[in-house]
Amino acid sequence: MYFINVILPIPLQKLFTYKITEAESEFLKKGMRVAVEFGKSKIYTALVFSIHKEAPVGYEAKDIYQILDEKPLVNEIQLQHWEWIAKYYMCSLGEVFRSALPSAFLLESETTILLNTSFKNEDTLSEDEFLIFEALQFQSQLSVNQIMEILGKKTVFPIIKDLIEKEVIVVKEHIYEQYKPKLVKYIQFTQKWNDSEKLSELLEMLSRAKKQREIILAYFQLKATKNEIKVIELQEDFGASSAGLKSLVDKGILEYYYIQTDRIHFDGKSQEIKKLTTSQTTAFKAIKSNFKTKQTVLLKGITSSGKTEIYVKLIKELLQNKKQVLYLLPEIALTTQLIERLQFYFGEYLSVFHSKYSMNERVEVWNNVLEKKQKAQLILGARSSLFLPYSNLGLIIVDEEHEPSFKQFDPAPRYHARDAAIVLANKHNAKVLLGSATPSIETFYNATQGKYGLVELNERFGKVLLPEIFLVDIKEKHRKKRMKGHFSDDLILQIEDALKNREQVILFQNRRGFAPIVECETCGESPQCPNCDVSLTYHSLKNELRCHYCGYKQAMPHNCFACGSEKLNTKGFGTEQVEQELQQLFENANIGRMDLDTTRGKYGYQKILGKFKNHEIDILVGTQMLSKGLDFENVSLVGVMNADAMLNFPDFRAHERSYQLMVQVAGRAGRAKKRGKVIIQTFNPYHQILQQVSTHSFEEMYKEQLNERWQYKYPPYYRIIKVIVKHKNYTTLDEGAQWLGKSFNNIFKENALGPAIPSISKIRNLYIQQFIIKIPPKQSITKTKDAILKVKNTFQAIRNFRPIKFIIDVDNY
Ligand code: ADP
Ligand code: ZN
Ligand code: ZN
Repeated sequence: MYFINVILPIPLQKLFTYKITEAESEFLKKGMRVAVEFGKSKIYTALVFSIHKEAPVGYEAKDIYQILDEKPLVNEIQLQHWEWIAKYYMCSLGEVFRSALPSAFLLESETTILLNTSFKNEDTLSEDEFLIFEALQFQSQLSVNQIMEILGKKTVFPIIKDLIEKEVIVVKEHIYEQYKPKLVKYIQFTQKWNDSEKLSELLEMLSRAKKQREIILAYFQLKATKNEIKVIELQEDFGASSAGLKSLVDKGILEYYYIQTDRIHFDGKSQEIKKLTTSQTTAFKAIKSNFKTKQTVLLKGITSSGKTEIYVKLIKELLQNKKQVLYLLPEIALTTQLIERLQFYFGEYLSVFHSKYSMNERVEVWNNVLEKKQKAQLILGARSSLFLPYSNLGLIIVDEEHEPSFKQFDPAPRYHARDAAIVLANKHNAKVLLGSATPSIETFYNATQGKYGLVELNERFGKVLLPEIFLVDIKEKHRKKRMKGHFSDDLILQIEDALKNREQVILFQNRRGFAPIVECETCGESPQCPNCDVSLTYHSLKNELRCHYCGYKQAMPHNCFACGSEKLNTKGFGTEQVEQELQQLFENANIGRMDLDTTRGKYGYQKILGKFKNHEIDILVGTQMLSKGLDFENVSLVGVMNADAMLNFPDFRAHERSYQLMVQVAGRAGRAKKRGKVIIQTFNPYHQILQQVSTHSFEEMYKEQLNERWQYKYPPYYRIIKVIVKHKNYTTLDEGAQWLGKSFNNIFKENALGPAIPSISKIRNLYIQQFIIKIPPKQSITKTKDAILKVKNTFQAIRNFRPIKFIIDVDNY
């Protein structure tokens, strides 16, 4: 008797045992996928974890349905890394498995399949494949269960896999927005003519079609320097006519094909890497010598100091040594600007991986990494690219390491990509370079403690000075009547100045929408979301109220729902209102806005940035999206509309985050030519953080924050584990929370806080309460976690409490 233990993509802690034949036991390897039945006739994709001969105790092992891989899809190092993540972040291996693999690899009986409408070649399909294709002509979607019925068998995963690879179908994804990238039209010879020896024959044949001959010759001219020829190049650079092209295609000589614009495609035009400046070279050498003794090094380099160029030089060395490199960035910083920059240097080595890419593309990158293809030797990606099947990592770069979005909040695993990257690098014996102009307190602490190496770069490229930062007291300005709407006279003056010089301006307002809150002037009530405990936000464009947590919307009411008064007032202000006020103040300026609302469309983000780059926009208003990785040389002024909201945010990191955000936004000013200016409007110009921002005093900020962290028992001294419980019935939840509060208190005494009702106490109809458990420096982390898990198990054994959702979030910074 032979058995396998498998990981199932579900939140249960243990592995599950299935029966296999002797032949299967010889074929199967750890890391291969199998289809198995679990629960009441549900079929899942599971991952083989071990192969053995011990029958499970207490239940009869079922047979597997099918083996899905010919060789492992996941390697040993990955599995070890997953185990670390599961243990450290207190979730199941199955949850890590589920989030690590592109969903196309994780078919299950409930998966929904859609037709890929651009597929035409039905002759290439096998009989089974055709049946599915046909069924999808009549039904817009099918579940895998239905496909099993149609084909009359349970072993359908490989057929679906083939259909996905042939791009006949796609798997419907819930987590990700469907993303349809733009296609560019290319042209090439058909198979028949794709042979240079046939060229003279071809030209002979076209001797009387002069235009067509010219197109063929132009094609060859382009082909000398490029692998891929865009139709537009033939048309624009060589005057190829559409009619001429059409005839060549109709004759079966040339054919069109399409490539996604953002799919990395190397066209042979690589660029030499830049020569580092003296101070960059010093930093580069310091990083390398630090790597001799430290696995992780922090590069603290001010904005526009050329950190990226230093990464590039390091990457080049590693690629030459045949090592894999992962360049990790927060999702919002993954801009086309950076992709293009790296593409120029490393086109033939570079693949990009992030959640907005199509499923097929994610599968393709996975396979390329697995097969150690050159094209995937350098991966540029957001946090999920940590899970790719690397076998030979030499370096992980974590750029903008301070970014909060490296932490995954939902669903499990709630991991921090920077910290998980350091663990992954360790398993590969690889190095980690953390980069930031404003390192997180934890990282800087680790660097000053000697745990990480520290390298500083305090000179901007071209020796441009850091921007000059002015704090404008808007309380004073209001008193002196020097405000127009939300603009102080100083800010208006500076904008006028910049516009006069044909320079560009960025205005930062950390809120989207028009005016977040509507308030009744008569009774003071403001409309609330029916599902969540938050006020609705006003969006003037559609004249509606929306909830930013659950997506609820309703038309803007005419009367107060509480007292009937018509005096509904908008309070606070968002990006949309800033944009409108600007339009009135600067009638002749072109104004653009960048926030979640304007960038939601397919190309919103790229389009706005493109326009800004081409100077079709003079003033760009936006949320924190603007703070990351953008390099525009013509921006001379940055304005922060209101610094107070972020400073007052109820979170122990609010001050650190405000500092980082303002320094990063300020860093967009004056990058290339002359010194930039930054205006920060505030009601509280003497706030210590604003003073530190205005004088670029990172270390002072750091020391002060560190003091506070120690005093109030926060990281980096104490670790934090947050426990969150949710339920639709308030009373049930409250009883459970009280019970938990007592248990935690018994064990952790004053280091257990809660139950507390968070500032947003209800989301999507679930009430929420939370606990914070602080782990003092000398207390065992493992024991603390074990104790929490024990409490959880007891809690869930209590019948009334079982339906309460129990979420553990480790290192919730
Ligand atoms: P950071 O990542 O530190 O913000 P970047 O690497 O984006 O800085 O550099 C800022 C700008 O200066 C970029 O446009 C970059 O191309 C340019 N630059 C930096 N270093 C060099 C160099 N050694 N030679 C030429 N240009 C450089
Ligand atoms: Zn009212
Ligand atoms: Zn809501």
